[in-house]
Amino acid sequence: MRYDDSPPPPESASATDPDRPWYARRSTLVVAAGTLAPVCLAGWLATQVLTSTGPGEPAARGSAASASLAAPPSGFRDAKPGVTPSGSASSSAAAPAAPNGPLSGRTVVIDPGHNTGNFKHGSEIDRQVDIGTGRKECDTTGTTTNSGYMEAEFTLDVSRRLRTALEAQGATVVLTHQADRPWGPCIDERARIGNEAAADAVVSVHADGVSAGNRGFHVILPAQVKGGAADTTKIVGPSRELGERIAGNFARTTGSAPANYLGSGTGLVVRDDLGGLNLSTRPKVFIECGNMRDAKDAAQLTSPEWRQKAAQGIAQGIVGFLGG
Ligand code: ZN
Repeated sequence: MRYDDSPPPPESASATDPDRPWYARRSTLVVAAGTLAPVCLAGWLATQVLTSTGPGEPAARGSAASASLAAPPSGFRDAKPGVTPSGSASSSAAAPAAPNGPLSGRTVVIDPGHNTGNFKHGSEIDRQVDIGTGRKECDTTGTTTNSGYMEAEFTLDVSRRLRTALEAQGATVVLTHQADRPWGPCIDERARIGNEAAADAVVSVHADGVSAGNRGFHVILPAQVKGGAADTTKIVGPSRELGERIAGNFARTTGSAPANYLGSGTGLVVRDDLGGLNLSTRPKVFIECGNMRDAKDAAQLTSPEWRQKAAQGIAQGIVGFLGG
């Protein structure tokens, strides 16, 4: 879900980084990616575990607040072609160990947004926590599809698939939670887990909950903020690179388009109101994989095969960012 309680920063139409290629033209992104030479990732992603989750628990309190997002006109990076996902379930029990994989010695923290138990713990998650630039609720329930599939189920499933994919490349992977606690963690703790792990990259997995007809994915990048314990000065640049790589690869593996309701078609937005980004000292982005309240997006989000493609795209973006 989105967290929209701050006024919108101005559109930064002149923010193009001259050092970065512009790949953001939506009409050419997938075609261009398909012309690139295959990379070493081909194959390993095809064998990742597919596990499905059942229908959702009772609906959490979803919300869709007004948009307050800026859209930097920056492009995706290197949407590398990997394997074409088969879409068929695999019976593989586990990813192969890859002690000498390209991500050997690297640590990735994955943050499954929300928690399926949050809606039962309103007082705990409503508690205000310090995000440096202000105070904000500990956590939120997340949204659901119209049929009740919870965002928190989705985020955990994608996160587990992502963990399997990254471990197969040799990465050390830490999840901020995995349904092993009744609620939370709070957003400040989610950031702290990445910081204390000295993560080389952190990705917080989400899906949005806005009105039907709004479709597509977007990656949220940290804004430059400084206040209290928050200082994103050192992570703004690398986080943008991480986000651009994830966006490009996610578009390719899933076939999804960048969001049609924010980000000006780039699939990238910058926000200064997210504690999980403001408090991070490590390169970090959020990804909103689609809109759970749109029937077409929901059909994808509830598909195990699509979630595998989503995890593949995120994983390939991380691998590219880390130079794997
Ligand atoms: Zn969310």
